[in-house]
Amino acid sequence: MHLNLFIIECCLMTFLSFQSIDAQQIRQPFDFPILLSGNFGELRSTHFHTGIDFKTQGVQGQSIHAPEDGYISHITVSAFAYGYSLFMTHPNGLTTFYGHLNRFAPKIAQFVKEQQYKQERYDIDMPVLPNLLTFGKGDIIAYSGNSGSSAGPHLHFEVHDTPTDNFIDPIEYFKSEVEDTRAPRITGVMVCPMNGRGAVNGGNKKIILRVTTAANGQTTLVGKIEAWGEIGMAVRAIDLMNKTDNTYGVKDITLRLDNHVIYHSRINRFALREAHYLASFVDFAELRTHGQYYMRSFVEPGNMMPGIESRNRGIININEQKTYNLTYTLSDAFGNTTSLNIHIKGKPQPIIQPVNKGTLLHWNTDNRVEQGDCQLFISKGNLYDDFYFQYAEKTAGDAIAPVYMLHNNLVPIHKSASLSIKVPRDKDSTANIRQYGIVHIVGKRCLWIPSTCNSNRVEADIKEFGNYSVRRDTKQPTIAPLYVNAWTSRKEISFRLTDDLSGIQSYRGEIDGHYALFEINRQAVISYAFDKERLQRGQHIVKITATDFAGNTATFIRPFFW
Ligand SMILES: [Zn+2]
Repeated sequence: MHLNLFIIECCLMTFLSFQSIDAQQIRQPFDFPILLSGNFGELRSTHFHTGIDFKTQGVQGQSIHAPEDGYISHITVSAFAYGYSLFMTHPNGLTTFYGHLNRFAPKIAQFVKEQQYKQERYDIDMPVLPNLLTFGKGDIIAYSGNSGSSAGPHLHFEVHDTPTDNFIDPIEYFKSEVEDTRAPRITGVMVCPMNGRGAVNGGNKKIILRVTTAANGQTTLVGKIEAWGEIGMAVRAIDLMNKTDNTYGVKDITLRLDNHVIYHSRINRFALREAHYLASFVDFAELRTHGQYYMRSFVEPGNMMPGIESRNRGIININEQKTYNLTYTLSDAFGNTTSLNIHIKGKPQPIIQPVNKGTLLHWNTDNRVEQGDCQLFISKGNLYDDFYFQYAEKTAGDAIAPVYMLHNNLVPIHKSASLSIKVPRDKDSTANIRQYGIVHIVGKRCLWIPSTCNSNRVEADIKEFGNYSVRRDTKQPTIAPLYVNAWTSRKEISFRLTDDLSGIQSYRGEIDGHYALFEINRQAVISYAFDKERLQRGQHIVKITATDFAGNTATFIRPFFW
């Protein structure tokens, strides 16, 4: 036993000494000094941030320069996610990614427009053959923007290891150009008694304690902790950088118990599907109920996030009436460090045994729950720990299906689970099955989930537990022309597409019977800018069709003059 602990500790120490990637500096994308609004591994509601966010001086349209020689290897155009975005592959084994762009450099823009007309769609998501769109180091490849799901002008920038496609912390390549002498700041500590195996301050509930930071940087925990049995710790903290008021994620967390490292995490590199381990890295229930990120220093068995090392999964066993001395050490990528001492008094107290109701699901197997007309399948890898799944159903008047209450959203699903609900077709045997879809009921809102339908079942992938049912969308979308009297003066035709339930799945614009490139924005406004190279001046007819996720299609036809 002693030998085992010794080996683990050696591994931890080796791991701790592996501090940073041996990164060659690359050209930064802009010609002005770097300031960041987000860092790598930062905690976002459903994932770790996969890149860094460069500030763009509050505006769009800043020139983005190639960091190294290379070629454009993938292009995406979408109203959502990263909007206009590019991958560039370099000979040094790295691929860089640029998101939320305003527009592309002319030779990429021309290539994209040709593809849009060839594919007859605005949305593009395509790999590009090597050496078709090549650029030298420093060439302008695009202009920064605010496209897709972005809350303000910035550049989302990623570095990928080309062979594995893993995300790497880009800051390693720009360290000499960023000023950061400010240490992380700890704002709270959570003590989590293990269910049925631990107690803290006389109860089995998690407790939160405030942390204060004095002017000299000294941090102090406010309040006392008395515990017995197995407990885990969690910490709430932010990082700071010079010359900005932005807050960032903390790079590196170490927890020591009586000077032995029991937990260490350093988020340096991960794969796309691993980004979702955020849901286990933080206390998910606290995130969902109060929107706060408490980073756990104990590891659930199904959490396979790389960069985390622990002893006994970081769980502390309090079994002696003495003081247990813990120290948190938090660091950023520049080595600025803050620490906090925590004293836990070992004090015997009753450990409350939980009353387990429901079906026990296991993190290390597939799980299938079947109740009446509802089937839920959770494949292995989607749960982080065993738990008792609670199920109920509520019939709601003459609705197509009852509301199925699948546990609650305080337990996370790593990626997705498959939900299948039988539709009682005898209620309307003439109905078009494609019009049925699974909906997620959140308070008064009813969110349609793209579903597949067969003769008597509706199926969808759900991303969280909660209340689900089946609805039918029989109404076609609405196509409303905008600024009709100003189409000529604006040199643009635009329409707003709306749908009452399932949402717009696709649309198509035609002028005089030929495909016309209508862009779409986040508000589902589609617009066509008069294109001198493709449209003669004179009388024309525009035709718009829009289809919702339930397959209902609407058409709008109108003559116009340009
Ligand atoms: Zn970003």
